[in-house]
Amino acid sequence: MKNLSKSLLGLAMVVALSSTSFAAEKQFTTKDLNEESVLALSWVQNSAEFTALSYQAFNLAKLRWDMDKQEGKKAIVVDVDETIIDNSPYNGGLIDKDYGYSGDTWKAWSEDKSATAMPGAVDFLNYVVETGGDVFYVTNRKSMPEKNMDLKQSTMENLKALGFPQVDEKHMMLRTGTSKKQERRDSVTGMGYKIVLLMGDNLADFDVAFDGDTMEGRSKAVETHKMSFGDKFIVLPNPIYGAWEAAVYGGGEWYKKSAQEKSELRKSTLRKFEFEK
Ligand SMILES: [Mg+2]
Repeated sequence: MKNLSKSLLGLAMVVALSSTSFAAEKQFTTKDLNEESVLALSWVQNSAEFTALSYQAFNLAKLRWDMDKQEGKKAIVVDVDETIIDNSPYNGGLIDKDYGYSGDTWKAWSEDKSATAMPGAVDFLNYVVETGGDVFYVTNRKSMPEKNMDLKQSTMENLKALGFPQVDEKHMMLRTGTSKKQERRDSVTGMGYKIVLLMGDNLADFDVAFDGDTMEGRSKAVETHKMSFGDKFIVLPNPIYGAWEAAVYGGGEWYKKSAQEKSELRKSTLRKFEFEK
């Protein structure tokens, strides 16, 4: 009996020790979190549906542009990343790495100038200019030389090489202060332009009404403005990142959350059918 309890104690210690080391090995890392993006990235890069949706957005934008018969100075406002260019290789590069987005890696990607055009974007933006309009690029790529972060030159070179029109000082509106875009949209109307339509992959690309950072607030704003989508606001699909993701993490200082917390929030905010009741 004594021997049995001794060996049971020994067994319990072995189990306790091995489960401790098992727990250490199983710590959830940023690499694990990055892995969760594989399917979204595969869809963006490999599905013909993604290409079709991009054509759909720019075809609709052309219809909408042609419908506008008002006289005077007219413009469209477009976001850049994941709206007119595809940066998915940047996120693809994070797969199997144990780090996430950073200013330094983003700068390296921007300076590589290898982003490709979203299908239909170059033709539509040139069409706007050929038919008398202006194109304003309102992007949160930073032009903040004081912070050693100025992506203006590399972004402009990338866009010019792809054949985008009006890539110049007047039309390129990078982020020099706040990430909020209303001031820059106001400066377009302030120059006497009527903004016929706006294009973006992020709701905040369209209106101040979408600057909220909670899932509930963002959903409500979409319901309030539902008639504007496909009309003045034209959305491009981005399942890789965006303000929607920050909202899943609860908004606020979401970026301070750990990889594990983020992964758990991704799962806990899903609607789930219970197979076993
Ligand atoms: Mg964007």
